[in-house]
Amino acid sequence: AVPVHGAGLGAWIRHAAELVSADAERLTRLDAAIGDGDHGHNLDRGFRAAVEALPADAPPGKVLVAAGRAIVSKTGGASGPLYGTLLRRAGKALGDADEVDAAALGSALRAGLDGVRDLGKAADGDKTMVDALAPAVAAYEAALADGSDLAGCVRAAADAAAQGADDTVPMQARKGRASYLGPRSVGHMDPGASSTALILRGLADVTQA
Ligand code: ADP
Ligand code: MG
Ligand code: MG
Repeated sequence: AVPVHGAGLGAWIRHAAELVSADAERLTRLDAAIGDGDHGHNLDRGFRAAVEALPADAPPGKVLVAAGRAIVSKTGGASGPLYGTLLRRAGKALGDADEVDAAALGSALRAGLDGVRDLGKAADGDKTMVDALAPAVAAYEAALADGSDLAGCVRAAADAAAQGADDTVPMQARKGRASYLGPRSVGHMDPGASSTALILRGLADVTQA
C-alpha cells in the first residue's frame, strides 16, 4: 500500500480548498433552498484558513489537527465546528506517525465520523453531512477488508459519499436549519452532504497513484 505523508494530507487540504472555492456558489445555492444560504461561503472561508494554518513540515496527524483547528476558529455556522471536529479527531487518531497506511486512514475517518456524531447528534437519515460521511466510512472499511490499497479505499469512500449526498434529496431534515422547514425540506440535496462528497472526492484525487 502507498503510505501518505504529512505533505500528502496537506495536499488534500489545499486541493479541497480549491474545490470548495470553485463550488462555493453551488453549495450556497443548495443552502439557500433549505437553509440560510451561507454554506459555500462558510466553507470557503474555513478552508482558506486551514490552508494558511498548514504546518510546513509535520506528520499527517498534526496536519489534520492544525487544519481542523483553523476551520473551527474561522468558519461560521453549524458546519465549522462539525468539519473542524472531523479533521481534529481524524488527526488525533493518526497520532505522531510519520506515515499513514490504508488501515490507519480508515481508523482516522471512523474517528472523525464519531466526532461529528457526538457533536451534532444527527442520526443516519436526518439529512445531514452524516448521510454522506457514514456510507463513505463504511465503504472505505469494506474496501479495506476486501484487500484494496489506500487509493482504492479512498475511491470507494468518495463514490459512496457522492451516492450518500444524492440519497439526501428525498429525506426530510431532522437536524440543523433545514429541519425548520419540516416536509418542505424534501426534494433538495443537503448542502453539507454535498460538500462532504466534494471534500472526499478531493482526497481521492490526491491519493490516486
Ligand atoms: P448553518 O446551517 O449554521 O448556516 P452551514 O450552512 O455552513 O451552517 O452548514 C449546514 C450543514 O451543516 C447542513 O447542510 C448539514 O449537512 C450540516 N449540519 C447541520 N446541523 C448538523 C448536525 N446537527 N449534525 C450534522 N450535520 C449538521
Ligand atoms: Mg447555512
Ligand atoms: Mg448560517
